[in-house]
Amino acid sequence: MNAPTAYASLRDWLRHLAATDRLAAIREGVSLKHELAAVAKRLDGRRAALFLRPGGQAMAVVSGFMSRREWIAEAMGVSQGELLQRFRDAAERPLAWQEVEAGTAACQQVVHGHGTGQVDLGALPIPTHSEHDDGPYITAGLVIARNPRTGRQNVSINRLQVHGPDRLGILMLPRHLHSFYQAAEAEGDALDVAIVIGVDPLTALASQAICPIDQDELEIAGALHGRPLPVAKCLSNEVRVPADAEIVIEGRLLPRVREAEGPFGEFPKYYSAREEREVIQIAAITTRRDPLFHTIVPAEMEHLLLGSIPREATLLAHLQRSFPNVTDVHLSVGGVARYHLYVQMRKTREGQPKNVMLGAFAGHYDVKQVIVVDEDVNVHDPVEVEWAVATRFQAGRDLVVIEGAQGSALDPSTTLGFDDNKPPVNWQGYGDKMGLDATKPLDSGGHVFTRVRIPGEREVDLDQLVQASGPAALCGTPLERS
Ligand code: MN
Repeated sequence: MNAPTAYASLRDWLRHLAATDRLAAIREGVSLKHELAAVAKRLDGRRAALFLRPGGQAMAVVSGFMSRREWIAEAMGVSQGELLQRFRDAAERPLAWQEVEAGTAACQQVVHGHGTGQVDLGALPIPTHSEHDDGPYITAGLVIARNPRTGRQNVSINRLQVHGPDRLGILMLPRHLHSFYQAAEAEGDALDVAIVIGVDPLTALASQAICPIDQDELEIAGALHGRPLPVAKCLSNEVRVPADAEIVIEGRLLPRVREAEGPFGEFPKYYSAREEREVIQIAAITTRRDPLFHTIVPAEMEHLLLGSIPREATLLAHLQRSFPNVTDVHLSVGGVARYHLYVQMRKTREGQPKNVMLGAFAGHYDVKQVIVVDEDVNVHDPVEVEWAVATRFQAGRDLVVIEGAQGSALDPSTTLGFDDNKPPVNWQGYGDKMGLDATKPLDSGGHVFTRVRIPGEREVDLDQLVQASGPAALCGTPLERS
């Protein structure tokens, strides 16, 4: 498996965006509090932003360099149609990483702490993003830790709140990192971690793969690159980090320590509440010379796509195991790239779309609504999907509602009916599922379900036929004389 055209370096990718007018350099001095996020949000999905000396800090900040689906496909060296398959191939056939010689890693060119005096998070340009956020947050930090039982690594992106010069609060969902931490904490031990900021788009995407515990996501990054990822050993612990990263924060997740974290504006475009959460004590910070700090503006396209593409790849693989006639899936942007799944299938028997819905709900608990459409409907175009619902769906026979299932705890509509809208832990995310079969019947007479098409529309050569446009189009026509 090789991917010669994939961009394996963040700096190469940013240079490529600049060369194609997709990177905006932002003048010096933009405030780290709200202003930086506001500018990045306005450019979201159009241009990546490179902030020079924001907030008077020496370090530059980048944001939004993965804010379009076609950009991610381009970084991967494939077409948009091949994106999910390519990610799935990499997740199924990972490539072991390769350790670089000690002292040669770019991410360790400059060392703070680890015998060189104090570490200070204040030296990093960490922005405050949303209105009610409790303060500055690291939003694009890949947290890497080793399973205390097996030594195998895990990579995840967790939000990290600055609690002090050498202290971060962290949100861990009940997944792999959290289970490593629980195993360490049960022994009274801290869990060594590294927080990596500023990696290439493919490594960032790989970090979000939904894969088994003890599958090191850095090996998926290697497979996406088409060659083993060069890694370096941290200076203060055994964690291996991408050697070409911009910034690495080394530290320890402390046992039996909790501090208040939040509120913080999350992917559903609502705030996640302030609660007692785990804490990281920082031991060292290493960087490249002249490093770039990456921030992801929460709930914007870069955030949504990082979550949705790996999930789509996983859900498609999961569905196709039971239903080989499922042809494509899409987690819609309006559905916060998590909750609303569009499924395209080649229906061969009536009733199949309802089986597919049940499979999709079982595929990930976050999925709240499933719309199943025929092969002629592009699931990546929400207008097409709505058209299918408008013309092929009848609620009386095509709607499936499943009440009282487990869903996303961050969906605020699941909290209604509880005191102060705060459900007890066991009821968080408790809500309903909805499935819509928007496929047309297999047998229908005449042209009832024949889609209107104009012969030759796709093939017509406009460059050949348009002789002039704008005011010049009127020259020599009847309109010129009136
Ligand atoms: Mn994992």
